[in-house]
Amino acid sequence: MLGDITQNLWWSWQLDARELFHRIDHLLWESTRHNAVEFLRQVAPDRLAERSRDPLFLERYDQVIKRYERLTQQNGNGTWFASRYPELRNRSIAYFSAEFALHRSLPIYSGGLGVLAGDHCKEASDLGVPLIGIGLYYHDGYFDQTIGLDGWQRDSDDPVDPTVNPVVRMNGPDGDPCLVPMSISGREVQVGAWRVMVGRVPVYLLDTDLECNDKADRDLTARLYTSGAEWRLRQEWVLGVGGVRMLRALGLAPEIWHANEGHAAFSYVERLRELIERGLTLSQAQEQIRTTSVFTTHTPVPAGHDVFSFPQLEQVTGPFWNTMGITREQFMAFGQPGLKDQHFEMTVLSLRLAGRVNGVSARHREESRRIWRWLWNDKPVADIPIGYVTNGVHLGTWMARPIRDMLGETLGPDWESDAEPEAVAAAVRNLDDDRLWAVHEGLRHLLFHYVREEARHRWRDQWKDPAKLAGAGALLSPNVLTLGFARRFATYKRADLLFHDPERLRRLLTDPRRPVQIIFSGKAHPADEPGKRVLQKVFAAAQNPSFEGRIAFLEDYEMHLAQRMVAGVDVWVNVPRVPLEACGTSGMKAALNGVPQLGTLDGWWAEGFTGKNGWAIPLASGEGDPDQQDTEQLFQLLEQHVVPTFYDRLPGRHSPDWVHMMKAVLAVAVERFTTRQMLQGYVTRYYVPAAVGEAIPGDLPSQPK
Ligand SMILES: *Cc1c(COP(=O)(O)O)cnc(C)c1O
Repeated sequence: MLGDITQNLWWSWQLDARELFHRIDHLLWESTRHNAVEFLRQVAPDRLAERSRDPLFLERYDQVIKRYERLTQQNGNGTWFASRYPELRNRSIAYFSAEFALHRSLPIYSGGLGVLAGDHCKEASDLGVPLIGIGLYYHDGYFDQTIGLDGWQRDSDDPVDPTVNPVVRMNGPDGDPCLVPMSISGREVQVGAWRVMVGRVPVYLLDTDLECNDKADRDLTARLYTSGAEWRLRQEWVLGVGGVRMLRALGLAPEIWHANEGHAAFSYVERLRELIERGLTLSQAQEQIRTTSVFTTHTPVPAGHDVFSFPQLEQVTGPFWNTMGITREQFMAFGQPGLKDQHFEMTVLSLRLAGRVNGVSARHREESRRIWRWLWNDKPVADIPIGYVTNGVHLGTWMARPIRDMLGETLGPDWESDAEPEAVAAAVRNLDDDRLWAVHEGLRHLLFHYVREEARHRWRDQWKDPAKLAGAGALLSPNVLTLGFARRFATYKRADLLFHDPERLRRLLTDPRRPVQIIFSGKAHPADEPGKRVLQKVFAAAQNPSFEGRIAFLEDYEMHLAQRMVAGVDVWVNVPRVPLEACGTSGMKAALNGVPQLGTLDGWWAEGFTGKNGWAIPLASGEGDPDQQDTEQLFQLLEQHVVPTFYDRLPGRHSPDWVHMMKAVLAVAVERFTTRQMLQGYVTRYYVPAAVGEAIPGDLPSQPK
């Protein structure tokens, strides 16, 4: 029974289910890093036997089992989706993504895109939306980060072990792995699939690591975002074409197809091929794909859009156009910007084939319309048919337990599924100030405890240099205003903005009366040399004695560390160069724990900032160096607003203005920035119109000319 629970990641966002593992053996629960499958495998039988004699434990256990059975047996009855769209209950939506962040034990994601996809699936389960996820099973995972003595990031792989993960190999009727064939670089390759259950939502993860495949092909899906365009192209070919074929082989028949970013856009091409094979003309097939396909674009940064040369494409896809009954020119034209461009862009492909397109924040919609306007013959920006659904974060994954418990006291035990967002926001506004502050301090202490224990382990196992210990956070004080900055070290996110004026930073941090400290974390993409240089700079600063141990860098940023950081710091710093952050979700996670954000007015903050729930760096004037202007504004806000407000308090008490700000940001987050609002937006504005064949507003994109 407990075994069933461990085989579905549903437990990971259920407080009562998590508590069971904790109560059985909390040391083992920690040492297995909250991996339920591994926990169950290692737990001592007499420990389980002992628990089974404890009536209180049994009662809790029964409740969890009952809830789990309701989830799996009721086929979505009573959920938001089923009651709102009873006629659509048996339709399903295929959701393709190159990465899914579902739990730290399954490292098949690199950052925000994966977290968003994982949260999308969890929320779909909560709301009863009939979603099916499709991704890749990277058996070597995404790299683990270690930082050398020189501050340079080393990337190491730790293979994903399927025996300690809730993944099962999908088999066909004969008991052998269910395989679909496809041609990649002129060779026939078999693609298999693993399934991981995320509540009600199955996620199928494709892989080629099968004995029947050529040695070279077995590693096709080994690693996430390997450098080398051809390798990446092959993975995207597997995801798109293999993904559609696998769904067919498993007998699944989704009617709505959603590609989360351009990596998955070959799924549209494979579906075109299917329709043409069934006798439709190319334009009939295209019309049908357009109506039923959703495409979400995620970044205005040019490097975020895959571009392949024609020879690369031809090498990987072979003469796929022959199987579609079209010419090479017609095939290339799907992704070719203009006739003189001899390359293929995945975003252009997506925009030409999918009819329902969105960006991930209001500001990102405007940027996307500007960037892609040329595809609609430079029509006015307002007429470009790109909409938006602002990203959100999954409450059950990102709101810390003490805050959930506290809200449960006023809203009742089932508030997370039943309460309206407005009611939750009202409850937040009515929270007792002292209580909220005490809960926040508790979360801050948990973070510091974690930081010190990690530093202690590294001190024991890795390095003996006290500067490293200080850099890992051993000198942080639990009573000092703490800023958090954690995200991928892409240069546009500007982790080093404060270091543009090191002397002013030193004064800020080491002020004897009102000191400040900063916790950094994040990985640079393995191929991103400038990103690694920024990381090196921050890492060196953390060990520089002139900052007196008030800067820490925490290695190996992943979901679990993110959960602790967003709940335990006092301010979330988010300073991307405008307008390059499409949305940004880590600030929403912080907000969901009552942690205000200090940030540039980009992405979600352009929507979420109210003037009372944090601080905003005004948009740079457009003249002069924007980095310099933003640095100046950042320091001014810190020196004149953030620090004075935080320390405006009596010893042992909280600052009243600060706690009001905490409530304001928490209320905005629960009301507008959870995946509940996001998924409801996708359902009502994208999935349902696609399911009922509603006409697509706006013109067709142009052909290459
Ligand atoms: C939320 C999250 C991200 C994305 O953060 P951004 O603010 O969008 O940059 C990246 N990595 C991890 C581990 C996360 O939890």
